[in-house]
Amino acid sequence: MFRNNPRLEFALDAVQQAATLAAFIQDKMVTEALTKDDRSPVTVADFAAQAVVGSLLEKTFPGELLVGEEQAEVLRSPDGQEELDQITNFVGMVIPGINPESVCDAIDRGISEPGENYWTLDPIDGTKGFLRKAQYACALAYVEKGRVVLGVLGCPNITYNLEDSKNEGGSLLAASRGEGSWIASLNEKLDRNGFTRLQVSSQTDPEGARLLRSFESGHTNTDLIDAFQEEFGIKADPVRMDSQAKYALLAGGKGEIYLRLLSPDKPEYREKIWDQAAGSIIVEEAGGVVTDLDGKQLDFSKGRTLRNNRGICASNGAFHDLALRSLRAVNA
Ligand code: AMP
Ligand code: MG
Repeated sequence: MFRNNPRLEFALDAVQQAATLAAFIQDKMVTEALTKDDRSPVTVADFAAQAVVGSLLEKTFPGELLVGEEQAEVLRSPDGQEELDQITNFVGMVIPGINPESVCDAIDRGISEPGENYWTLDPIDGTKGFLRKAQYACALAYVEKGRVVLGVLGCPNITYNLEDSKNEGGSLLAASRGEGSWIASLNEKLDRNGFTRLQVSSQTDPEGARLLRSFESGHTNTDLIDAFQEEFGIKADPVRMDSQAKYALLAGGKGEIYLRLLSPDKPEYREKIWDQAAGSIIVEEAGGVVTDLDGKQLDFSKGRTLRNNRGICASNGAFHDLALRSLRAVNA
């Protein structure tokens, strides 16, 4: 198991609390009465989860930087009051007595720019999955000198056995550099004995490879993924799934390759650090490999987006060279 590590203890506790609250909010707010364009449940959950992590960080490591996806500006405006009250009620279930102003301050704990060392948080990764009652994750990582050194993912709709399930309790995954990747139940009290080590798939036959990709076609390049699949020789249909839950499946041997390719509709899009930090170390520490499309390590050292990046290839390791060659062959 992990050596004693106060940062990891904090991250496990914070993600467990934030992801559990997000699942509660989903249960209460994503109802059949919700109209198609109403994103308010995920907005509330996003802010609430960041407030929980920001507030716990302020208590535990007051001097440390947090780069979070959200900021409280709209909640501080008159238009945001109703939503802020709702968020405050939910956050109060985890941090009793917190007031609206402290909720905003806790969210804005995350407006830092990355420094040499920093935390990065995606309070709800996979917002579209959250609204569809599909997959989403709460993702927190710590970065030192451009390299992720620990990561924790809370996946309320992935079971402890890495099955995609809505009603069976979620999972909490963690990795620390050099100490492996581990999974526990999201819904039980944290206990070192509750963790099981994760290991990537040992598959080496390309025909047996399973490809993981975004559920949302607009987040990737589906034509290029189809071409890659043919070039590589994959036979099975890709697994389409929202959020960094894909990294969780890859780390646990439930898939062999995960690609993120730029959507042709948004060639200027750049990957955000919080969308890849926690998931990528969980795959690496489970024995997998995560690189950009040229085979280079991801660089978290320059701002809120990955430096010089136009896509990500993650694999079980055995398939990595073939995956990169196949990507080049289809001009990705
Ligand atoms: P996924 O659930 O794997 O599709 O990825 C979800 C993440 O993709 C979200 O955190 C979004 O911030 C991010 N995202 C938003 N727009 C795009 C885009 N055009 N291309 C790639 N990722 C995007
Ligand atoms: Mg995200």
